[in-house]
Amino acid sequence: MSFAIYGVGVSGGIAIGRAHLASHAALEVAHHTLPRDQVSNEIARLDTAFTAVREELEALHRSVVSGPAAAEYGAFLDLHRMILDDPTLSTAAKTYIAQNQCNAEWAITQQMEVLMAQFEEIEDPYLRERKTDVIQVVERVLKVLLGHPGYVPAQPKRDGDSILVAHDLSPADVIQYKQHAFTAFLTDLGGLTSHTAIVARSLNIPSIVALHVARRLIRDNDVLIVDGGQGVVIVDPDEHVLSEYRLRQSQLELEKQKLKRLKTTVATTLDGTVIELFANIELPQDVEQVKENGATGIGLFRSEFLFLNRASLPDEDEQFEAYRAVARKMRGLPVTIRTFDLGADKNLDNAKRVAANPALGLRAIRLCLAEPQMFNTQLRAILRASRYGQIRILVPMLSSVAEITQTLHLLENAKQSLRNDKIPFDEKIQVGGMVEIPAAALCLDIFMRKLDFLSIGTNDLIQYTLAIDRADDTVAHLYDSLHPAVLRLVAHIIRSANRTGTPVAVCGEIAGDIVFTRLLLGFGLRMFSMHPAQLLTVKREVLRTNLPDVIPLAQKILKADDPERTHVLLAKLNS
Ligand code: PEP
Ligand code: MG
Repeated sequence: MSFAIYGVGVSGGIAIGRAHLASHAALEVAHHTLPRDQVSNEIARLDTAFTAVREELEALHRSVVSGPAAAEYGAFLDLHRMILDDPTLSTAAKTYIAQNQCNAEWAITQQMEVLMAQFEEIEDPYLRERKTDVIQVVERVLKVLLGHPGYVPAQPKRDGDSILVAHDLSPADVIQYKQHAFTAFLTDLGGLTSHTAIVARSLNIPSIVALHVARRLIRDNDVLIVDGGQGVVIVDPDEHVLSEYRLRQSQLELEKQKLKRLKTTVATTLDGTVIELFANIELPQDVEQVKENGATGIGLFRSEFLFLNRASLPDEDEQFEAYRAVARKMRGLPVTIRTFDLGADKNLDNAKRVAANPALGLRAIRLCLAEPQMFNTQLRAILRASRYGQIRILVPMLSSVAEITQTLHLLENAKQSLRNDKIPFDEKIQVGGMVEIPAAALCLDIFMRKLDFLSIGTNDLIQYTLAIDRADDTVAHLYDSLHPAVLRLVAHIIRSANRTGTPVAVCGEIAGDIVFTRLLLGFGLRMFSMHPAQLLTVKREVLRTNLPDVIPLAQKILKADDPERTHVLLAKLNS
């Protein structure tokens, strides 16, 4: 039976293929057959992982002895501890290894499936739901196991085009799919600007989040049509619908080919103003796409992705190699490396901290300053790479001047240590700040005195201005990029920066959305940074824009007193 599911499209395009269901990326493990003499080592490896998780749960327990949620959270941790110690999981998994001569990851996920089936039989809905806790415990064990070398993430089935259907994935999970061959990506949870969605967009395949019921209603191997632009999935379509979408697919492909002709065209408005179109990247290999789309620089290198999906931190040399590779490939064009924005939804594999409100917690520059050694390693690596191109440093989530002062102090220390070691670097390396918190926008004059450039992170600026968790799909409908408070802040930041001659870019998702191109140009923005796949569409919009026409309309939108009027004026601006 054919039916449709609606969600939030985060990456456009049409894909037609077969569903590949994933309960969680971390649970998608490979199967290896082991020689008999390795079986006892494998059992010991599983034992060690159980011990590590037990210690992890105990440490978490100790860290939540006080506070309003302590009792509830404590009970939850106790439950996890009980599941961990339950012989149905641990002893049975070890027996499984012994009997089947397989790897520990495979054994524990097989045992989890047995438990899942048992939970499915339970009548009581509350108890039945506890199977989620079993999954979470197994995930913890897997995370420890997967830190070991030799782990190969599962490959999608290759019989035709596979479409990944998942309930929820972390940004770290999604980044693993960069090497994989999925043709579309669907999740039940997530918001438009959640990091999961951003990384999904960077895979450059049609993606839809917040589908709510996809994982439940779609079966493995179902034929699916994914329309990323419209945010719709058609399950089990009939021949007529299939041929209609095949036609649309080829039309979109044609349009893409036409856009490619703009690759080397300078992004100039009709009145002759040159606009810089930069790209956002997560990993060094993304530079290929940056070049294919003719970006004039990298406006945001989310360096924290180098730190995810691994048991240990990347050392100075490894980071240096990554930054130098990007700088070299960009051949003198600006490369803006954001210092690690870890915390919130992007956590290190061994992170033990659990915060009630992680987006308001020890994240980004706060974490950098709390971990000066780790920060120093990154600063030294960036500085060392700075002689191979035009590298700039970008500091995320600034909320106070003290954070800038401390960052500049630590940077000076890193510079001095390199001078002592006689290692050359760019002495005049520029340091910019991300404006992502209303406090920074409101104190911009003070911030600008200490910074060389600014980048407006609208994804977080909207989250913090409207108090909407960007990763929480239950409030996704309230996440409004056109909210007057957001528009006023963005316009204020651009105006203030332009007045003082401080270069300013927007690097949040609205920079790559053509609905906002003219509005931002009208506010005075001359530098955009976006996912490379969005660049040529935005360039086409810039080429069609006459600034003297859009400036007065943008000002009118800023003064609009109701949302309907804002939408009418925006439609007029974009017509
Ligand atoms: C932003 O917040 O707009 C931004 C670009 O940073 P990130 O999406 O990585 O938080
Ligand atoms: Mg941000």
